[in-house]
Amino acid sequence: MLKHNEPMSRHCSLRAGGLAQDFFLPDTLKQLQKFLQSNQKPVLILGLGSNLLVRERGFSGVVIKLKQLNQLSQNALVVTAGAGVTLAKLSRFCDANSLNGGEFLSAIPGSVGGALMMNGGAFGAEIWQFVQSVKTINRSGAVFERQPADFEIGYRQVLAKHTEEYFIQAKFKFSAEQKLHNIKSLLAKRRKSQPTAAANCGSVFKNPTNPKPYFAAKLIQKSQLKGVCVGGACVSEKHANFIINQNNATASDIEKLIKLIQKKVKSDSGISLETEVVIV
Ligand SMILES: Cc1cc2nc3c(=O)[nH]c(=O)nc-3n(C[C@H](O)[C@H](O)[C@H](O)COP(=O)(O)OP(=O)(O)OC[C@H]3O[C@@H](n4cnc5c(N)ncnc54)[C@H](O)[C@@H]3O)c2cc1C
Repeated sequence: MLKHNEPMSRHCSLRAGGLAQDFFLPDTLKQLQKFLQSNQKPVLILGLGSNLLVRERGFSGVVIKLKQLNQLSQNALVVTAGAGVTLAKLSRFCDANSLNGGEFLSAIPGSVGGALMMNGGAFGAEIWQFVQSVKTINRSGAVFERQPADFEIGYRQVLAKHTEEYFIQAKFKFSAEQKLHNIKSLLAKRRKSQPTAAANCGSVFKNPTNPKPYFAAKLIQKSQLKGVCVGGACVSEKHANFIINQNNATASDIEKLIKLIQKKVKSDSGISLETEVVIV
């Protein structure tokens, strides 16, 4: 399905953002390949939009949402998941099949593809710890199998040696050992510490590591920014590293608030906060 002038506010968890010139939702990998073979426009791949902010002026190119690439299968301890599988579904699948170690994924409201791109992590674990191999597709529609060694994997950042390839599938190896966490209690912890009822994108900033490790939330709180708003975008009272869309915030309100936080924290603590949320 191909649409035009699609509001990205419909697809991003911040519920703000400009228009995508074209918006493509392939039903199958074949359709995606065919589309890419003839596409000349810039491409933005979309998972669940839980870590993405598209500026007011929109995206002049095609946004491709991989939601339908959602096949999930198991062979012994190895799970093969399409890029569009949600992490919630993957963690439930593992739970139901006594595959352990991936419980933390239930706390991240993204897709397999988005989490591979961001090296999503929570409760002391990160997704790439479980990756055996991935399948990627390039801008011309060719498919490749890649190994973890083909990527530089860091904190909320993954750099590919083969650029302009997108994740379409991953094989994860989980464990038969005892579970590390109980999914229900992880979700309860999240509800207690995060403003889960309001539109947000999770942690806006990475936790700085230079000159030493800090929690971004603590630095923002120290700068007394909790509750501070620009337009409809506010720093959450519940978790200072969250910006919530409280009252029809625009992408520009959110970005202005991000800049205000960065400026104030730099002047109060001397530390530069780097965004975790991807701004397009
Ligand atoms: C309430 C809340 C809590 C959160 N908690 C956590 C947390 O604990 N830990 C954590 O790590 N994150 C957390 N996040 C952030 C977010 O859920 C993760 O970054 C998640 O992995 C993003 O997945 P997505 O599918 O939504 O990606 P999107 O937001 O759709 O995309 C993110 C980036 O990945 C790219 N991308 C998406 N799919 C692909 C693909 N198939 N191939 C190549 N590039 C792709 C996009 O172009 C974009 O650059 C939280 C977010 C929210 C709203």
